Amino acid sequence: MLGAPGAGKGTQAERLARARRIPKISTGDILREAVHTGTEIGLRARAIMDRGELVSDDVMIGIVRERLDRPDAAAGFVLDGFPRTVTQAEALDGIMRGRAPLVIIDIDVPEEELIRRLGSRLVCASCGANAAPPTAAAASVLCATCGGQMIQRSDDNDATVRDRLAVYRAKTMPLLDYYKTRPTFRLINGAATPDGVAEDLARTVDSVLGAGAGR
Ligand code: AMP
Repeated sequence: MLGAPGAGKGTQAERLARARRIPKISTGDILREAVHTGTEIGLRARAIMDRGELVSDDVMIGIVRERLDRPDAAAGFVLDGFPRTVTQAEALDGIMRGRAPLVIIDIDVPEEELIRRLGSRLVCASCGANAAPPTAAAASVLCATCGGQMIQRSDDNDATVRDRLAVYRAKTMPLLDYYKTRPTFRLINGAATPDGVAEDLARTVDSVLGAGAGR
């Protein structure tokens, strides 16, 4: 699942994974968990994430290689937040050799809308669920999934959002050229409602799989 920060990758990856009963593998979630538990990778990643920069390709490729090797990913998975560089995409192609082809979906959202979404996004401090803020002040909003406290992600402040979008344009947008000629690549409009995007995504994935990918 490709797309800029704020395009809705995490939300849509979660919905698709749940509907297909396959794991959602989010490299951002894996890193935030590592920061939270204070592992060595987490300690090193924290400052990089707070600046909106990318964690090194070597570290990310190692994390994803190990995760995709686990048995629960054997029948399929939804990848959210990886690859983010051409080097990561090349490594992923290597990891996927001998497995079913990747379905590559780019969720497209105009930049003004990304900035608006990221500036107002809240996430649950306990379970990580995302939510658009209701009218109440952030401090009084509780997570609809687990009842935890909803907070602003530390990298969703104005300055870091602008840096993340710049990093996206410089490092991740070239992936579109890397993937766009593949028969399993599709672009979908991410500016629609979450339900609308989810329907479009499900239909699009089905059409790619129906055309022979994954067999
Ligand atoms: P996300 O939750 O996908 O927006 O990721 C949050 C942050 O984690 C990013 O801004 C990066 O600092 C880091 N990160 C997540 N995935 C990757 C990746 N594939 N490569 C490098 N850094 C990543």
